[in-house]
Amino acid sequence: MPAYAVIGGQWGDEGKGKVVDYLARDMHIVARYAGGNNAGHTVITEKGQFAFHLVPAGILWPHVTCIIGHGMVVDPDVLIGEMENLERHGIDMGRLQISDRAHLIMPYHVALDRMEEASRGKGAIGTTGKGVGPAYVDKVGRMGIRMGELLDLDALLPRLKAVLEQKNRILTQVYGAAPFSLEEVYHHCRRWGERLGPFIAPVEVTIRRALSTGQRILLEGAQGSLLDIDHGTYPYVTSSHPTVGGACTGLGLPPSAIQGVIGVYKAYTTRVGGGPMPTELTDAVGDTIRERAWEYGTTTGRPRRCGWFDAVAARYSAMVNGVTWMVLTRLDVLDGFHPVRLCVAYQMDGKTIDHFPSSAALLGRCTPVYEDLPGWDRPTAGLTSWEELPPQAQRYALRLQELVGCPIAMISTGPRRHETIEMIPIR
Ligand code: GDP
Repeated sequence: MPAYAVIGGQWGDEGKGKVVDYLARDMHIVARYAGGNNAGHTVITEKGQFAFHLVPAGILWPHVTCIIGHGMVVDPDVLIGEMENLERHGIDMGRLQISDRAHLIMPYHVALDRMEEASRGKGAIGTTGKGVGPAYVDKVGRMGIRMGELLDLDALLPRLKAVLEQKNRILTQVYGAAPFSLEEVYHHCRRWGERLGPFIAPVEVTIRRALSTGQRILLEGAQGSLLDIDHGTYPYVTSSHPTVGGACTGLGLPPSAIQGVIGVYKAYTTRVGGGPMPTELTDAVGDTIRERAWEYGTTTGRPRRCGWFDAVAARYSAMVNGVTWMVLTRLDVLDGFHPVRLCVAYQMDGKTIDHFPSSAALLGRCTPVYEDLPGWDRPTAGLTSWEELPPQAQRYALRLQELVGCPIAMISTGPRRHETIEMIPIR
């Protein structure tokens, strides 16, 4: 009854979409467990390029059942749009299940997200403004609306009324904004229930049944471990658990079912939004990485901050997730750089440290200690075997593996499925 988790080992955008799509070929179920449409997983196949925000990236394989877990927050209009786009490409949505416990991102969450972020001024977190944070706040505050409630509109009405009264007080009195009308929001709920009702299900039952019949499940993480609400660079974090623990709570999955944790790491580091990033390069090298790798957000279009690989941060995320195997992506982006640098420790307040501090303020005072390795000129883009890699690229990958402390199972050398070097089969 194996389940394998694919988690982002850095600050997100590691290329999880490609890795999930690649591994999904040998899976029965792909289940996403955290986050909302602040994620953007890109997959390129012969059918074209797909950017997934809510639907699991495994949907492109016709034999795979896909699950939107209850650890996620769902903007129904975004989901409907994504489903319709996939249907237009001939992809059957009958294989999608949405947890009845997943929380909804309501229109007032989107409005509040933008107003709250604007009011933070210089201390902005860098939220994507999609309502994800406020939806999670309401979930914890016991004010959230869940998918299953769309199927019981009579029971929903008094709850919606009470929640909306409180939200409208904040919108009008704190932000001077227009209130939302109960009739309008209730009308949206009715429409969403009609459209999404056939997909809403108790997904933990599907998962239990799959495990008991020996089916294989891929757990699709979103964002990155360093954005985890507990393990990340708080407060510059997301509101959920991208780390592997989130897969258990976000799906109703027993931890004992997880046979392996696949940590996806880019060959360098990127971060979007605010918060400390010790290896950030604000010079021409950083610009070259950004332009060459087109490091602009899939969801927001924002330029990503770029820098060398941070092995201290990577070792930390491997530790908190119990990473079994690493997947190294975007190695091709480093073609032609001389030297290539790896951050092996930090200098903080005159001391050398090799652990990742819990405080964003302390991390902000860390400067990288680099180890320089020789670069390579022969392109790695599109290579499919270890032997074809230039010896310097092999050395870089082996040193990185040693520093993080996990074996590399796969190296990605391009965005397409076949641009992959498989070193340890995961199936
Ligand atoms: P995710 O959120 O972790 O799925 O990452 P994104 O999809 O936001 O960003 C990854 C981007 O890198 C996408 O455009 C992928 O098509 C692309 N990509 C994935 N792996 C590779 C690779 O090995 N090399 C290159 N050049 N691009 C890759």
